[in-house]
Amino acid sequence: MSDVFLTAEELAFRDRYRKFLQEEIVPLKIVERMDSEATEYPTEFIRRCGRAGYLGLAIAREWGGQGLDTVHEVLASEETGVLSTGLVCARGMPTYMGKALERYGTPEQKEKYLVPVMKGEKIVAEALTEPVAGSDLAGIKTKAVRDGDHYVITGEKRFQAGGIGADFFLVLAVTDPAARHKGLSFFIVERDMGVTVEEKYQLLGFRGMGASRLGLKEVRVPRANLLGEEGQGWEIFNYLIRTERLCEAAGNIGAGREALRIAAEYSDTRKAFGRKLRDFQAISFRLAEMVTAVDAGRLLLLRAARKMDRGAWAMKEVAQAKFFASEAGYRAVDFALQVLGGIGYTNQYPLERFLRDTRVVLIYTGSSEIQRLLAAREIYNELLRETGRG
Ligand SMILES: Cc1cc2nc3c(=O)[nH]c(=O)nc-3n(C[C@H](O)[C@H](O)[C@H](O)COP(=O)(O)OP(=O)(O)OC[C@H]3O[C@@H](n4cnc5c(N)ncnc54)[C@H](O)[C@@H]3O)c2cc1C
Repeated sequence: MSDVFLTAEELAFRDRYRKFLQEEIVPLKIVERMDSEATEYPTEFIRRCGRAGYLGLAIAREWGGQGLDTVHEVLASEETGVLSTGLVCARGMPTYMGKALERYGTPEQKEKYLVPVMKGEKIVAEALTEPVAGSDLAGIKTKAVRDGDHYVITGEKRFQAGGIGADFFLVLAVTDPAARHKGLSFFIVERDMGVTVEEKYQLLGFRGMGASRLGLKEVRVPRANLLGEEGQGWEIFNYLIRTERLCEAAGNIGAGREALRIAAEYSDTRKAFGRKLRDFQAISFRLAEMVTAVDAGRLLLLRAARKMDRGAWAMKEVAQAKFFASEAGYRAVDFALQVLGGIGYTNQYPLERFLRDTRVVLIYTGSSEIQRLLAAREIYNELLRETGRG
């Protein structure tokens, strides 16, 4: 386990948050209501996290955060993943967007947008992906054209977690079509400036998270709502997405950990051919491999988080951790479901939901393929630097 790499304070924090989830969140049956789509977004969970001091762990106290760091975000995300991948995203989104507001926002923007998000009073969503571009983010078409003291934004966005009820969005748009990556800018766009929710998606998993398609038709946004500078969008994206990638992958580690616990318990009692399932090495060896992969995923996440907390950009470490940990968690869930046989495929256990929920983490916030691409690029860059050829 990774406990030997954590400080006493970090361990105490993790245990406190685990207790909070068990005592204050599980009884509310939020996860069940989300999965059956009886609820469109876990606003109550976010509010409770805000009140209990579990939002914005890596955001400065000055702006309503907890003044902790990325390691704490990763720890909280793993614990949340034991319950639901959707809740990982709901608790994390204020930090992911908050990181951008904290670093690139003006004092006025932080006061108006960051502080209420940290309290759980306002919901923010991330508007990057479009029907025409996801992985190739610099290929987006939403454009922002300067008009006096405003920008006029026109385009479409899709798959915005929380889009259904967000108070405002961080929208990535093209301000200079000729400059590709360098021609992107971020805007803080309030819902009632004219953003419309055009569709709520029916999803395999990750339900109750309000993932939707947005329309922006000549939305007039005050110039004061440009985040950072014109052309700084790509830098801001890369800055905020690192925390998001680590936290979302940590959620899969939480789900994988819980799934393996269920599989171990089940195989210790269930009998076939006169023996316990655990006595078949096809089961126990595979369990050992899966627990090892989940532990390794956690360690990669913590390494990347620590590097970031020490001021490193850590793009390679984040990419390695994201694909390895999210895949390890997903595979662990799939294996656990197999160990339980038919009953694993029913909703008597959370495994079928975990399988649906964890799958998306291999796609969103930069797919597994894109993470390999980023890691490979950095590995070659390092090699070139080391050999003096770079
Ligand atoms: C439930 C859900 C929630 C989401 N939440 C948000 C959100 O809140 N905000 C937001 O902006 N977006 C969100 N997304 C969007 C998500 O980030 C994108 O779906 C993801 O980045 C992939 O983009 P795409 O769907 O356009 O696929 P594409 O980019 O079209 O890729 C399709 C496939 O091709 C692969 N591929 C692409 N390029 C390469 C390459 N160079 N080499 C190898 N393989 C490649 C991809 O890995 C993928 O497997 C969400 C998506 C889902 C499903």
